[in-house]
Amino acid sequence: MHFAFSDTAQSYIHRLQQFMDEHVIPAESIYFSQLKRGERPWTVPPIMVALKAKARAEGLWNLFLAKGDHGAEFGQGLSNADYAPLAEIMGRSFIAPEVFNCNAPDTGNMEVLIKYGSAEQKQRWLQPLLNAEIRSAFCMTEPDVASSDATNMQATALVEGDEVVLNGVKWWSTGIGHPDCRVVIFMGLSDISPTAPKHLRHSMVLVPMDTPGVKIERMLSVFGDQDEPYGHGEVSFTNVRLPISSIIAGAGRGFEIAQGRLGPGRIHHCMRAIGAAERALELMCQRALSRVAFGKPIAELGGNPDIIANARIAIEQARLLTLKAAWMIDTVGVKAAMSEIAQIKVVAPNVAQTVIDQAIQMHGGAGVGADTPLASMFANARILRLADGPDEVHRAMIAKLELKQYKKSAH
Ligand SMILES: Cc1cc2nc3c(=O)[nH]c(=O)nc-3n(C[C@H](O)[C@H](O)[C@H](O)COP(=O)(O)OP(=O)(O)OC[C@H]3O[C@@H](n4cnc5c(N)ncnc54)[C@H](O)[C@@H]3O)c2cc1C
Repeated sequence: MHFAFSDTAQSYIHRLQQFMDEHVIPAESIYFSQLKRGERPWTVPPIMVALKAKARAEGLWNLFLAKGDHGAEFGQGLSNADYAPLAEIMGRSFIAPEVFNCNAPDTGNMEVLIKYGSAEQKQRWLQPLLNAEIRSAFCMTEPDVASSDATNMQATALVEGDEVVLNGVKWWSTGIGHPDCRVVIFMGLSDISPTAPKHLRHSMVLVPMDTPGVKIERMLSVFGDQDEPYGHGEVSFTNVRLPISSIIAGAGRGFEIAQGRLGPGRIHHCMRAIGAAERALELMCQRALSRVAFGKPIAELGGNPDIIANARIAIEQARLLTLKAAWMIDTVGVKAAMSEIAQIKVVAPNVAQTVIDQAIQMHGGAGVGADTPLASMFANARILRLADGPDEVHRAMIAKLELKQYKKSAH
């Protein structure tokens, strides 16, 4: 066992870090001032357009596409273990993933199209997504049912002749407010017979946003913020009719695709959460050394040295588990890595949330304001504990896999 990154990863780490330091971090305040300026926050800040063009010209583009999943054809052909440190670096800045076209939910949707899309679907939707000419959303969660259990889904995608007809309401559809959002992946029941096999009843359908019957009912706020220009919407689908060729991979394969969609992309946000935690620790240390209270630097007061030490320990542990999960996806595949993937999904956002919270505390009032990225980083880490499935659901999976081996021998 050795802990060095590959030569390829190291070369990308160097280039990405340099790009972040020179272009992305200094652009953060400009991005937010352009976004919030005026009365139209649902537009793309011009600085983002410039950053994307620069990143693409430097070959720092679509890095997330893993080589096992045709990543070499469409992206840079990195392994998941190679991508992990890069996603960590991007995770240091809220705006960075988009700069390199590595932002959710477009990443997951691109992975689906690469893996399951027809030639026509790839040409119409994948290519413009790879070029970042359009944005997309993923519509699975529903307001009326507990959606952490996806078999509860009520929306329908019924085949009628050579058409598929969609009905239902979705919410928390991230990215649907973006001015360039042109397509969503909708998941619904295509077999409404209650006796049908639970995991063969659903389909995924590509829905152009301008299709009659698609309506954004409202944009939702997260801790009072609307997360423009992406946002999270509640969307109704009323008798939305599309050609049957809009179904991805054929009716009944929705669950299979949902599993595939979350393949490598399952842990991208964990990698980014480590980067956010790392930046929070950095800010915490700088602040705690530079401010004095009760005659001492804050870093030396009370239990603060322990807090700093524990943050370092927790981040290192989380990073190692993230890298192990990435390495397992590369070497033994998603299925054999299920427990490690679920473990890191619990660990990474919780570690990030705790470390960022402590950094906020050591900043005093400044920690909850907008002069540091801490408040928005905290909200993001907290959201992750739900957005990618609640912690409890991942824990249930870990326990199930753990118990399985003993259940076998008990019989
Ligand atoms: C900011 C944000 C962005 C999101 N983006 C998207 C998106 O782009 N597309 C999309 O389709 N969805 C998205 N989601 C939705 C997200 O995936 C769901 O919120 C999540 O899966 C939980 O579903 P639910 O909200 O219906 O909660 P419920 O299913 O109602 O669960 C509520 C709570 O019940 C408890 N619980 C559930 N299962 C168990 C269990 N097995 N053991 C113990 N306790 C349990 C947990 O505490 C859980 O938090 C997003 C959510 C947020 C907050």
